[in-house]
Amino acid sequence: MAKSKRGRSIWNMPSHGRGTCPVCKATRIKLLYTRTNSNGKSLKVCKRCSAIDASRIDAATAEIKSVETRKAVMS
Ligand SMILES: [Zn+2]
Repeated sequence: MAKSKRGRSIWNMPSHGRGTCPVCKATRIKLLYTRTNSNGKSLKVCKRCSAIDASRIDAATAEIKSVETRKAVMS
């Protein structure tokens, strides 16, 4: 089976598959797992957060939304 979450394959992804996890705020971590919240919005999370409760995913998406709204007010 191909290892889609490690090795050379992730180097084709934007930022080499790395970024800041929206749930645990870990920076430069590999975001290789997709979680979907109750609104159907998909979120890239790290390995640690791939197994967490769905309510945490909802909380993270709500937080992202509030940050985006703040940015819109600033500009
Ligand atoms: Zn995480």
